[in-house]
Amino acid sequence: MAKVFQATNVGRVRDNNEDSLIIIEPTTYAVADGMGGAQAGEVASRMLIETVKNFLSKTPQLWDEKILAQAILLANDKILNLARRHEEYHGMGTTATILHLRGNQAYFAHVGDSRLYRLRDNVLEQITEDHSYVETLVRRGELTAEAARIHPMKNVLTQAVGAMATLHIDTANFPIESGDIFLLCTDGLTNMVDDATIQKILQTASEPAAALIEAALDAGGKDNVSVIVAGVD
Ligand code: CA
Repeated sequence: MAKVFQATNVGRVRDNNEDSLIIIEPTTYAVADGMGGAQAGEVASRMLIETVKNFLSKTPQLWDEKILAQAILLANDKILNLARRHEEYHGMGTTATILHLRGNQAYFAHVGDSRLYRLRDNVLEQITEDHSYVETLVRRGELTAEAARIHPMKNVLTQAVGAMATLHIDTANFPIESGDIFLLCTDGLTNMVDDATIQKILQTASEPAAALIEAALDAGGKDNVSVIVAGVD
């Protein structure tokens, strides 16, 4: 029912790729952007993806946004516990954006500043809200979206999986339509490439995931960048 593309790239500046992503079955997608010193970010984002995959494989289908949130909560516990036991992992965490398509409905659960977008009728809409300090300022009207993209504190998250005992997970579901294109991405894309360019690539590229990565690299590739693009028949 959906044509899916995925790609990840370390970028032009960083040594490690702390992003993780997965396509589970053909209709469930997750991206995670890890943070923390040394290799801790990679550990956190991989643990998130592995935990989600294992949790869903043991959960009867008919997954919904609550099931996706349960998977994130389980990952939160696991990452917190690992960080408590190992000093080198202290302070690690990860974003989590998960989308599941079933029947005519989309279900998602989300923490952090990775994003879910939907392109419908030539309008690109950011479905998720960033859990970031600068987004808080934007919502208060104290900062423009453009200024937020280059703000020195743009990496400061207000919610991250594995970094706090009480986690607030955004969840929702909504009807999907034929022709919808969904994009899950880490901030390595959205800090480098504006929404208008993202939209144009989604509308025109035959290999949209590769083309989005290319655009992020062309713009400087300052961060790891990961994308999943799913087009509904
Ligand atoms: Ca990132």
